[in-house]
Amino acid sequence: MEVYKFGGTSVGSIENMRSVMKLITDGKQKMVVLSAMSGTTNSLVEISDYLTKKNKESALAQISMLEKKYYNVVFDLFKSAEMKDCGKKILEEHFDFIKAFTTGTFSEAGERSILAQGELISTALFTLLMQEEGFNATLLPALEFMKVDADKMPDSRFIKQKLNEILASRPKADYYITQGFICKNELGEIDNLQRGGSDYTATLIGAAISSSEVQIWTDIDGFHNNDPRFVENTKRVDVLSFNEAAELAYFGAKILHPQTVLPAKNNNIPVRLKNTMNPPDPGTLITAESKGAGIKAVAAKDGITAIKIRSGRMLNAYGFMKNIFEIFEYFKTSVDMVTTSEVAVSVTIDNPKHLEEIVNELKEYGDVEVDKNQTIVCIVGNMIAEEKGFASRVFIALENIPIRMISYGGSRHNISVLVNTNDKKETLVALSEKLLNI
Ligand code: ADP
Ligand code: ASP
Ligand code: MG
Repeated sequence: MEVYKFGGTSVGSIENMRSVMKLITDGKQKMVVLSAMSGTTNSLVEISDYLTKKNKESALAQISMLEKKYYNVVFDLFKSAEMKDCGKKILEEHFDFIKAFTTGTFSEAGERSILAQGELISTALFTLLMQEEGFNATLLPALEFMKVDADKMPDSRFIKQKLNEILASRPKADYYITQGFICKNELGEIDNLQRGGSDYTATLIGAAISSSEVQIWTDIDGFHNNDPRFVENTKRVDVLSFNEAAELAYFGAKILHPQTVLPAKNNNIPVRLKNTMNPPDPGTLITAESKGAGIKAVAAKDGITAIKIRSGRMLNAYGFMKNIFEIFEYFKTSVDMVTTSEVAVSVTIDNPKHLEEIVNELKEYGDVEVDKNQTIVCIVGNMIAEEKGFASRVFIALENIPIRMISYGGSRHNISVLVNTNDKKETLVALSEKLLNI
């Protein structure tokens, strides 16, 4: 069985929902993962922010706006009065649930529960739509099988066992509809796989049911060689290897949630990125094999903090690095880039939650400098690190941009540079003009 995932824009209007229905109903059994309708999760985040700030009035106003939007959707989506009523009941249930948080204290668990409502609503409405149109579609509750552990890592074994159990216990359907993004955590609370997490749901499900392919349907014709939000004239890449795609996703290519590729890579399941607005288009295939040599694409990841530790004690000393890295490990903060000289080491982190504590501990080992608002620009290709003259081409392309760090040679398919976020756009444009589109 193949897994098809549709993102927010793909289910963002009645017209688009109907296109998705048409697209998936080709007679082949499918698992269909849906995001919330576009804009919904952002609205739910806003509602939660108001509630956290105890601004009940603004929260209620935002809830009421969202509710109105969904009542219009239900009114136009279904044909029969009976189905319209069923749709209204679904909305009532979810909006009552959200409104209940406007009284009493509001916790992080409450916030996560609110964020889950978008996917719960979109999948319930879409399943109803398919049933009204006479298709054999069943809604599978992701909260029963999608689970993360205390480190927020998906519990693959549980997911596989539970999902297969659920599938075996239900009457066979042609189309199984389920929620992306949402899950339960180790405490049994509602949680999520982080923003954009529906892509990750799709490959986790793909792995759990040994799917032959995972298709991620979105609003663009595949993986582009640069970020189309910042650079004009980007081009689609036809084929990427798992490693190349994983690196680009991890380093900020929004088209894929950062962890999406891993379950597919581990289980050798091809992933295809397709355009919901243009189904015949071939899209991008992500597979074990890399195709072609040279640079494939670049991506940028914002919100990076660079930390430099300078110490005379580093000279000829062993154990220095270990001591430094133990501090990051203790605070469960992962390090992305690392560069060293004889007297200093610079690292980057993307999670500043424990920055202050980390810096305090690092001060034991030397002078510490912190640069916030940094961006990692990651240049990915097939064996680019071994291509003669490649590094010089990158440097020439970036000759006008101050580079804070460079990571080269860590893998066969990646060169990363750290720049100030203010220089990000110029960096991406320069790479497109001087490296990618020539
Ligand atoms: P969905 O809601 O379907 O998950 P997303 O908005 O999460 O869609 O991802 C698709 C968007 O990712 C595109 O519209 C595009 O603006 C953005 N994007 C960023 N980098 C890339 C890239 N390298 N290739 C294609 N799209 C990209
Ligand atoms: N709806 C969630 C979000 O907006 C998950 C997703 O779209 O993948 O982040
Ligand atoms: Mg997305």
